Amino acid sequence: MQATINPQDILKKHFGYEQFRPLQARIIDEVLNNKDTLVLMPTGGGKSVCFQVPAMLLPGITLVISPLIALMKDQVGALKANGISAAFLNSSLDNKEAEAIVQQCYRNEIKLLYLSPERLNATMTGLLTKLPVSLIAIDEAHCISQWGHDFRPEYTKLGSLKKQWPKIPLIALTATADKITRKDIITQLGLVEPNVFVASFDRPNLSIEVKFGIKKKKRIEEVVHFIKERKNESGIIYCLSRAGTEEICADLKQAGVDAAFYHAGMGSEQRNKAQEDFINDRVKVICATVAFGMGIDKSNVRFVIHNNLPKNIEGYYQEIGRAGRDGLPSETILYYSIGDVIMLRKFIDESGQKELNQEKLNRMQQFSEANICRRKILLAYFGETLQNDCNNCDVCKHPRANFDGTTMIQKALSALIRTGEKIGFNMLIDVLRGSHKKEIIEAGFDKIKTFGAGNEISFSDWQQYLLQMLNLGLIEMAYDDGYSLKVSEFGKDLLYGKRQFDLVALESAPVYIPSQKRDLLTSNTTDLTDKLFDYLRGIRREFAEKENVPAYVIFSDATLKEIAQRKPIAISDMIHINGVGEFKLHKYGNRFVKEIKQWLRSKDVRAPKADTYKETMTLLNAGYSVEDIALTRQLQVTSIYSHIAYLYKNNSIESLDSYINESEIDRIRKAVKETGETKIITPLFVHLREEVPFHMIRLGLAFMEKAGEI
Ligand code: ADP
Ligand code: ZN
Repeated sequence: MQATINPQDILKKHFGYEQFRPLQARIIDEVLNNKDTLVLMPTGGGKSVCFQVPAMLLPGITLVISPLIALMKDQVGALKANGISAAFLNSSLDNKEAEAIVQQCYRNEIKLLYLSPERLNATMTGLLTKLPVSLIAIDEAHCISQWGHDFRPEYTKLGSLKKQWPKIPLIALTATADKITRKDIITQLGLVEPNVFVASFDRPNLSIEVKFGIKKKKRIEEVVHFIKERKNESGIIYCLSRAGTEEICADLKQAGVDAAFYHAGMGSEQRNKAQEDFINDRVKVICATVAFGMGIDKSNVRFVIHNNLPKNIEGYYQEIGRAGRDGLPSETILYYSIGDVIMLRKFIDESGQKELNQEKLNRMQQFSEANICRRKILLAYFGETLQNDCNNCDVCKHPRANFDGTTMIQKALSALIRTGEKIGFNMLIDVLRGSHKKEIIEAGFDKIKTFGAGNEISFSDWQQYLLQMLNLGLIEMAYDDGYSLKVSEFGKDLLYGKRQFDLVALESAPVYIPSQKRDLLTSNTTDLTDKLFDYLRGIRREFAEKENVPAYVIFSDATLKEIAQRKPIAISDMIHINGVGEFKLHKYGNRFVKEIKQWLRSKDVRAPKADTYKETMTLLNAGYSVEDIALTRQLQVTSIYSHIAYLYKNNSIESLDSYINESEIDRIRKAVKETGETKIITPLFVHLREEVPFHMIRLGLAFMEKAGEI
């Protein structure tokens, strides 16, 4: 590999992947050509490889600027697990630890150094300037822009990097950036004629579902049911408020679900614990505010549930993007109620950039209420068009039907006018359904003509229909008048019978596949694979605990699934699995292969026998010593040498230099001449006064045989 080492080799050797994803190879080429680069890729798209692979090929050190401490720790952990020397410097280290790392950098022992932006203050910059920097990578680059949704003041200082190292290529990466933010990143970082790569933001492995107006009690029941049907799988539940996270967490725990909560109001110790527990699979579900997640690199998050409407589409897409980073199918559900909309509007009214935020919320709401493929809307928002419907969102799965809603709309609008347009959603529905609540009687609303005119429709269905009416512009919400509803001009047209209007029928189809049906969908073989997957999870956890890293750092879920599916019973099968590089093969391969063989035997599955020579060959190539191979394969050392002799004779091994030297061969050659023995080892062994071990004699004979001497 020495002379011709290239990005593809690095990808296979250190990351265990056969192929680059679209754009990765081109980005890496540009970086290696010293060009500044801006990379826009969705979460899970594979941004890290874009600077980690060049880092391995460049002579000096690669600085990686990343905003959150937890992310650095995980990324460095994952790199080390792949046999790459990496370290981080941030406020979590004391001076002595930091100094030790700086020294290591000076000795050129570190390929990637992760830094928080705070660390780039004057003194550190002084120290860092002496380092042989080859590349600078800025992760989460949108944090530099006030236009983005996650501005961080510390990031603005990063503009000085390009001044400090004008000749060093800089690569900026982000998962969210609209056009203005994109431009802003380039200007503020001072990128020079950068190449901008925009990957598709589509994440087809994520299912998308939006559910409106489901009452709290039912919602909890649904969520509990959902989680329990997915045993061993972890997920995030996002809530709008801190109190909300604690509340839902308590509800889940009461229902027997293993959950924790996380929000910015907690002490940092408590917060870190919650995060670590989640990352390390000690707790399955985390109920969190949006403060949670940017520092999470966990690749096996299988579901993200929003318990409330997010503020904008950027945030929503990034949050659901935390599911399924390993590319396996993952589920996302968004629950929201009109209460969320009102609450968010209040927040926005009190915030800066009111109009912009208001508009973003509107778009979010439109998305949630839309009747066309949701993925199409999301991708359109990011400037991409999806040709076909996705078939993996609730709209695609349950197409909506329209019906003539004119009479219904008229009832609602008329009730609204008769109550003086001073009431909100809930009271309007109570009037339409003929409720005898105290406040209705006191206001005299039970006397109006449309009182009870809509009692055949349930409360929650009314909520949905009224929301559609709001979106269609038939009614308006007076944000400045206690959120009361008003009939628009357009609504008046309809009320006075000038036109007909369609509403979207509400579906009453069950949302979850009941468990019996799920079982039917899985055949025997997938059942075996699933069971093996569960079993191997345990082995993975054992390694993770021993090494004190999250389980997915050992093998991602995707890799573990592939292992369970392909059931490698030989190291040589294992090496072809995605995500198994040489380093990990060496470290874990044997144990997994052994476990799989045993497990299959315990299930009475006959596994084919592996080719014993090929197996030894693969291990030799992976850098195992003969003794390691013997230990690994539970064979005698002499057997391994006889494999080597065989492989040599069959041209699979080029030379025996590393096993036997010239003078040893000479000695054996002499013994062969003197005894006339060319096949059987024992007489030669005796003739050589038992001084030359058996295996050496075998190798000597192989050498002579191949050379045509015997
Ligand atoms: P991002 O930083 O863009 O969110 P990551 O760099 O964490 O994404 O990559 C997401 C996942 O995809 C990781 O598990 C990573 O190992 C995997 N991955 C990256 N590149 C490839 C590739 N070429 N082939 C297979 N998997 C890849
Ligand atoms: Zn769709």
